Amino acid sequence: MHIFKEIKPLRDYLAGIRKAPGRLGLVPTMGALHAGHISLVKACQWENDHTLCTIFVNPIQFNNQVDLENYPVSLDEDLSLLKRINCEALFCPSAFEMYPSDPHISFGFNHLDETLEGQSRPGHFSGVALVVSKLFHITEPDAAYFGQKDYQQYCVIRQLSQDLNFPVELRCMPIVREPDGLAMSSRNRRLSPEEREKAPIFYQLLSEAKRAIREGTPWSEVKSDVKASIERVPGASLEYFEAADARSLRVLDAIHDSGNVLLLTAGYVGRVRLIDNLFLAD
Ligand code: AMP
Repeated sequence: MHIFKEIKPLRDYLAGIRKAPGRLGLVPTMGALHAGHISLVKACQWENDHTLCTIFVNPIQFNNQVDLENYPVSLDEDLSLLKRINCEALFCPSAFEMYPSDPHISFGFNHLDETLEGQSRPGHFSGVALVVSKLFHITEPDAAYFGQKDYQQYCVIRQLSQDLNFPVELRCMPIVREPDGLAMSSRNRRLSPEEREKAPIFYQLLSEAKRAIREGTPWSEVKSDVKASIERVPGASLEYFEAADARSLRVLDAIHDSGNVLLLTAGYVGRVRLIDNLFLAD
């Protein structure tokens, strides 16, 4: 695997690749890789001639310094995982390489970055949009791979790409889960064994809500049942549990048609913040 820590040699390498016809796919990550990330790399390899994975814990997308300091880092294990699946190239820059000085630019996406995650993570999506813009400019990929796990992030990046005319095909890949339903996440590593046992609660609530909605239970009733259920789990708390239009991310007061509706939730188990979502129609 070709490993680049600096932009210049990466650009030279990519210029070499482009001398022959072929598609380049990009898989941006923050490392502490798990099977969810690996599924993106594999999809990228399948659909492109060249695959570049990036590992960069983007400081400016953390609205909480403690969260940044606690973010898991496991570069050696990440390298082994990527080598094992024959990932062609990895870009893992330092914070200084990406931000030699504090950036002045910021992004706003109106409703898209203000709703749901935006309520408790101010500035988060601006930081995401900036780092993704940088990665798109540096690498000029034909396609880029993101996970449905961070569905709102995907929506923001889709808007970013549209507004800035990035000629990048965006792919949103399904959520990879543990056998008990917990969505894989780098943050799961920070759960204690007892917390890990409780963590599938969010997936259980989503699945239970989906079943109830399909059986015709009114959304308001479903929501109050969800709140009651989480209160019965000590150490777990809910930040939001919403149904939204999957295109606009407008939160719904009532569900008349499950066609393009997504259930999204965020909450805590202990000190670990978890997010998850489910399409009603799947
Ligand atoms: P992260 O390293 O958490 O920034 O994630 C990098 C990419 O992997 C993002 O596009 C995530 O949505 C995606 N991802 C994270 N967890 C999963 C998962 N369980 N299944 C599929 N994709 C995921």
